Amino acid sequence: MTQLDETRSSAADVPGDVLSSFDPATGDVVGTHPVHTAAEVEAALTRARAASGWWAGLGFEGRAEVLDQWRGVIARRTAQLVDVVHRETGKPHGDAQLEVALAIDHLAWVSKHAQKTLGRSRVSPGLLMANQAASVEYLPLGVVGVIGPWNYPVFTPMGSIAYALGAGNTVIFKPSELTPGVGTWLADSLREVSPDHDLLQVVTGYGDTGAALCRAGVDKIAFTGSTATGKRVMAACAERLTPVVIEAGGKDAMLVDHDADIAAAADAAAWGAFSNAGQTCTGIERVYVHEQVADAFLEALTRRARDVHAGSDAEAQYGPMTMPSQLDVVRRHVGDALERGGRALVGGAEAVGDRFVQPTVLVDVPEDSEAVCEETFGPTVTVRRVRSMDEAVELANAGRYGLGSSVFSAERGEELARRLRTGMTSVNAVIAFAAVPGLPFGGVGDSGFGRIHGPDGLREFTFAKAVTRTRFKPPMNLTSFERTPQQDTTVATMLLALHGRATQLPKLPRRPLRALRTRRSRGGER
Ligand code: NDP
Repeated sequence: MTQLDETRSSAADVPGDVLSSFDPATGDVVGTHPVHTAAEVEAALTRARAASGWWAGLGFEGRAEVLDQWRGVIARRTAQLVDVVHRETGKPHGDAQLEVALAIDHLAWVSKHAQKTLGRSRVSPGLLMANQAASVEYLPLGVVGVIGPWNYPVFTPMGSIAYALGAGNTVIFKPSELTPGVGTWLADSLREVSPDHDLLQVVTGYGDTGAALCRAGVDKIAFTGSTATGKRVMAACAERLTPVVIEAGGKDAMLVDHDADIAAAADAAAWGAFSNAGQTCTGIERVYVHEQVADAFLEALTRRARDVHAGSDAEAQYGPMTMPSQLDVVRRHVGDALERGGRALVGGAEAVGDRFVQPTVLVDVPEDSEAVCEETFGPTVTVRRVRSMDEAVELANAGRYGLGSSVFSAERGEELARRLRTGMTSVNAVIAFAAVPGLPFGGVGDSGFGRIHGPDGLREFTFAKAVTRTRFKPPMNLTSFERTPQQDTTVATMLLALHGRATQLPKLPRRPLRALRTRRSRGGER
């Protein structure tokens, strides 16, 4: 057991306790941070509430200005942030920079699109309420609690933080205990732009600190992490009916059709499976390849996999397992696959070291084994031959997760994408959906619910406010005790004219009342 594993599960509730973050490549301490108690989380909530009125009152343009300044600070200091990410997660600087770049892109998108997405828009009042002006706008909830994982400690929480702030909420962020330095850096950088207001506060600590945030009485929790913890978060939030968005684990599949570009599919499968040491919620963990091209695909994939190696040297394509205990999960899944008849074409049991896991490509693995059913979160991938894309879709959809997926096909990419029960699919690419800020991000089944990113992500941190305003005195006031029996008869007549024959008519009559009168005068209506 490493020093990190020993501390990870120990949850302190004593003011003054500290937690250390470690470099997973060396085990060296990177920094120490407070373990925030439940009382300290509640104090943070009080400060966040105090700031939320000011922040909401700034309006879209004022908030965009602050978020743009923050974006500038992050962009100018990217190298510094990248270094903290590198030291706390072990990922190469280039990968850390990529996630910072994507996070900045999301911030820019939020500044530009919040008003258009959430601002007041008119709605047709309909025939019965024709005298009303109707509108809807999306108002901030107040204070949002964000609980994040360690694998993309900037990009992933920013998918909630940026959108919650852009929608007019203040935020309390509980980063993973493995990456408290990254979370603290983010909050400090926003404070430089807005020193007098607690727009984004960080509470560091273990799972207990996250649980305290769920129970504190925030207006929503945006959780990203494992499915098991997501269930605990929901249970804690249920106590105060705090709404939640859950971004949980995945077991993403790639489908490779007979007409796919095999070289591109193999390259994407390798990157999707091995980059970031496979510690990507939307990483490729399973491939279903058409039997006509399976040999060519496997040949290309294994060649690619042999070129990739984990390490902390300058040539390494990915780093160590960030969470040491994840090594046991990877070892168990690979072992189970091999014991049950699977074969490792690259890597295998010996690929799992003390800190690093080398790329592993498994074939002939039973579909009910852990390596196929459970999230491995390591640089391993199973490949299975299928007779048809129908079989591939069936197998891909058989699991309990439904986060992302990928399809490689020349002709049928989008058709197959629609048949996959996942929140997101990339055609002839992997994980591209996560980098498009305007697209919703989230899953179904055990991968969670709710959406971050894009217009859906902004609305996730608001409540819809409907307003009607009386424009003129109506000829029939339907919402009054002065409504007459004759008016009720008129409503009944209108109802019949508009909807009575809905299933028989190809479309509604354009002028219902006149049409009705015409039919009556011909004696056609009873
Ligand atoms: P965990 O579920 O272990 O932890 C996630 C966060 O929840 C951490 O900040 C953790 O704190 C906190 N936490 C732990 N216990 C509780 C509790 N009882 N109440 C409230 N919060 C708690 O996930 P990991 O950090 O290990 O991240 C990996 C997982 O995240 C993988 O399953 C991956 O698929 C998923 N993920 C999903 C993404 C998505 O968008 N769908 C994106 C990225 C990752 P602490 O670290 O201190 O224990």
